[in-house]
Amino acid sequence: MNTDRRKAQQRAYRIKNIERIRAVDRAYRERNKERLNAYRKEYNVQNKERIKNRQHAYYEKHRKEIAAWGKAYYVKNKEQRVAWRKAYYARTRDKSKAGARAYYWDNRKWVLTRERAYRKKNIFAIKARNKAFYEKNKVRIMAQQRAYAIKNQDRINARIREHYRENKVARTAYLRAWQRKNPEKFKRYRSISYRRHFAEKQAYSRAYAKKHIEKRRFWLRNRRIKEMGLVHKYTDGEWKEKLRKSNGICPICKNNVGVKKLTLDHIMPVSKAPKGFVYTIDDVQPLCKSCNSSKSNIVGA
Ligand SMILES: [Zn+2]
Repeated sequence: MNTDRRKAQQRAYRIKNIERIRAVDRAYRERNKERLNAYRKEYNVQNKERIKNRQHAYYEKHRKEIAAWGKAYYVKNKEQRVAWRKAYYARTRDKSKAGARAYYWDNRKWVLTRERAYRKKNIFAIKARNKAFYEKNKVRIMAQQRAYAIKNQDRINARIREHYRENKVARTAYLRAWQRKNPEKFKRYRSISYRRHFAEKQAYSRAYAKKHIEKRRFWLRNRRIKEMGLVHKYTDGEWKEKLRKSNGICPICKNNVGVKKLTLDHIMPVSKAPKGFVYTIDDVQPLCKSCNSSKSNIVGA
């Protein structure tokens, strides 16, 4: 019982002399400011985790009051606060960014949990806000994106190419599966694409044909041989024998171009041969390249 009485006395004394006590306290703090600050700093460093956890716990426990208080304060001082924050942000931009980053990495787990919860709870509002923001700033955003794309064209293209390469197999498989699943759509898309790029494709194939004129001739001849059922009825040995006998001399221009430069000429041109025509060793001859191509469609020149 004595303890209670003593405590009551102490309380009464404290209440009675509060101003004086506070003044003494203040004076003491002022006198020992540096020492106390150093001590507090040291304490904060040593108890970083504990303080952080305590702050988080406190926040979680009182979040509603804190939010309400913050909101009320913000509403009351809005203009002033916005101006102040803008000025502060402009002044300390790099530093505050670094600070925010450091805070984020120090408290990552907690920040992410909180953000996720917030996002989940407010997803529709967030989406609506983002959309509204985009609509309002569309021109500026698009211009920004364009500028970025132009400035980083090479990097972007390289990234696209790399991505394409990395996903080529999967992409092809996906497209094939899609084609199988949507044959009608695929057909329609292809014909649209065909019409759209028709002139382009035609020009390309014309240029290709011009560039690969020999190849094309060879291909056409083979197609005709197949279509007309033309038959070659002689052996490789017979042809080699004929080449050897020519001594590398072209029978038309009489130039000695060498055995290796002589090409096979159909004396009866493939383009003129009747259906089912059988070429024996007597129906072909070795000609130099220029005579062969200038002879063209003349029968038995
Ligand atoms: Zn010749």
